[in-house]
Amino acid sequence: MESKKSFMPVSDRNLKIVKGQGNYVWDDSGKKYLDCVAGIAVCNTGHCHPAISEAVCRQAQRLIHTSNLYYPSNQEEFAQKLVEISKIESGNVFMCNSGAEANEAALKLARLKTGRKEYVSFKNAFHGRISTPLSATYKPEIREPFSDFGPKCSFVDFGDLEELKKTVTDETAAVIVEGVQGEAGILPAPSGFYEGIREICDDKGALLICDEIQTGFGRTGEWFYYQKTGILPDIVSMAKAIASGLPMGAIVARKDLFFTKGEHGSTFSGGPLVCAAGLATVEILSDLIPLVYEKSALFESLLSEKNPRVCGLMIGVDVEGSNTDIRDECTKRGLLVNATGKHTIRLLPPLTIERKEIEAACRIINGVIDEASD
Ligand SMILES: *Cc1c(COP(=O)(O)O)cnc(C)c1O
Repeated sequence: MESKKSFMPVSDRNLKIVKGQGNYVWDDSGKKYLDCVAGIAVCNTGHCHPAISEAVCRQAQRLIHTSNLYYPSNQEEFAQKLVEISKIESGNVFMCNSGAEANEAALKLARLKTGRKEYVSFKNAFHGRISTPLSATYKPEIREPFSDFGPKCSFVDFGDLEELKKTVTDETAAVIVEGVQGEAGILPAPSGFYEGIREICDDKGALLICDEIQTGFGRTGEWFYYQKTGILPDIVSMAKAIASGLPMGAIVARKDLFFTKGEHGSTFSGGPLVCAAGLATVEILSDLIPLVYEKSALFESLLSEKNPRVCGLMIGVDVEGSNTDIRDECTKRGLLVNATGKHTIRLLPPLTIERKEIEAACRIINGVIDEASD
């Protein structure tokens, strides 16, 4: 019998990871795993990339925290970098500490600037677990126990522009959308969907918030998913991979959209340590992003018999039977994958993954799925 743990049992887990290097992690028995979870799309630069570790250590010896009563030395530099990669001209940045907080900032800003109170989101969307983003999260078992929290959110079928057109009204502050529904099992938006949403938002005077928390920082082959489409959002929210594993989130908003003094804030927001990690992350990813499409195509061809859904390095494979059994068998064979939704195995490998590692991962997955269906 295992003794009671002190950390609340908010997820089921059975592996203790003690070390990470590049595309691999090691457990407490010394066993090595190829990591195709990457901290849930956080470790896009791999584990303990030397440039990240060095930037964090150097900053930790110089200055860790100041609060936003002062300008931290590197905050503006990182803010400008985020505007540059978002391609939102003269955009405004707010930094925070997680994805949920980034969506909180985005949704609050939309209410403030439109004077409207309602949101429109999509079925199977995931936007976070604090109240405002929680109101835009689809799964009733996540949302409803806390659902008495204010702004009304309507849910439309992902991809259905006709229904969206009917649902967005002149009470809608914002439409919030992910380009690939990650938590729902890697469901990419149909082509033309973003352009359609943009048009409907413009018609009704609602803002468009692109949640790039999982899809951002090169995950889909561009800095942000919306850059694969012809449109720009009014606000983009980001987090996960932004600082290679240090807790951070941010939004970039159109040039006329910003909070002023007292309208929003956060004690830790954009501190020196996370900004140092963020600056190093962007530099490393600039070289890795152009390689994503080729790596993606290799995954797609090696898994082709399993009909994968692939968008950049977001890969979903539906399996028959228990996806957690498949995950656990992959773990035994030295490969970390994640079970999401009811039937899906999700891979979110580091962008540093190499050809031979992709081959090894696909060999294990194909083998495990084939054996399970025998
Ligand atoms: C992970 C995620 C969030 C929430 O981010 P946290 O840092 O866990 O609060 C929101 N939206 C999407 C699309 C995500 O993948």
